[in-house]
Amino acid sequence: MFGPIGGPGGPAIGSPAAAQQLVRQQQEQYFAWRAAQDRAAAARAAEVAAARVRWRASGLRCDVVTGCGAVAAGRCSGCRHTFCESHQSYDRPADGSAVRVMTDQCVLCQAAQVAAALAAAEQAANAAAEEEQRRRREARRQRQQELREHAARVRAHERENDWPGARRLLPEVERQLAATPLVRPEPTDGQVGRANAVLILGGVTVLLAGCAMIEDNLPLLGVMLGILLFTFVPLSIWALRVRRRRSRAERWAALQLERQELLSARGCGIAGCATCATG
Ligand SMILES: [Zn+2]
Ligand SMILES: [Zn+2]
Ligand SMILES: [Zn+2]
Repeated sequence: MFGPIGGPGGPAIGSPAAAQQLVRQQQEQYFAWRAAQDRAAAARAAEVAAARVRWRASGLRCDVVTGCGAVAAGRCSGCRHTFCESHQSYDRPADGSAVRVMTDQCVLCQAAQVAAALAAAEQAANAAAEEEQRRRREARRQRQQELREHAARVRAHERENDWPGARRLLPEVERQLAATPLVRPEPTDGQVGRANAVLILGGVTVLLAGCAMIEDNLPLLGVMLGILLFTFVPLSIWALRVRRRRSRAERWAALQLERQELLSARGCGIAGCATCATG
């Protein structure tokens, strides 16, 4: 009626119809499994009942426990004693259905078997717990060893790079850094080049204007150069500002570098070391 999912006559992969078909198939599998379980339980119950009938006819009596003497329901494969129905092994609660008894085991042998299984499970759990503790101890020991080795590396590196000396210098660098404003945006190289050109041209013009003023025969040139100078005044102010910003930015970068170098004397010397960061 339904084709395979994604195959001829079947729903497309990932479609709602495919999901429905999957659910239906799972339900069918589950019901089939349940039916098989029920059939097996019924077969066992019939087998146990038939065995009891056979043993009742044998006329033998239970001798698992001294003085029981009830009609036998089977012979124990472990201790070879005959047992009655109440001394026959039974399903432990965890096993499920109440009809699932062992047809060839007495209750004493079953109890011994269960106790042995419990003891083995406990022993395994104890061993696992001990192993876990041992693993934790080993991990702790290893971590401590690593910390000791790291501490030794820190001592060696700080001695070699004179961290105590660097630490004394650090506050002064920090103070200067705090007093040095961060220049953003930094003047570009092109801006600085133009500013330098403006200042040089301004200087040359001043010089020429001065010469022309002194020379009586060139008064007109002197006046022209003087007028030109006026246009240089705002340009020069701009150029001086650019140069000042550039030198401040350079000073800030130099102080940062110095601070970094001083700080690099601290710790084990490995950049980005996690142990140093947490310590
Ligand atoms: Zn037995
Ligand atoms: Zn008995
Ligand atoms: Zn480190």
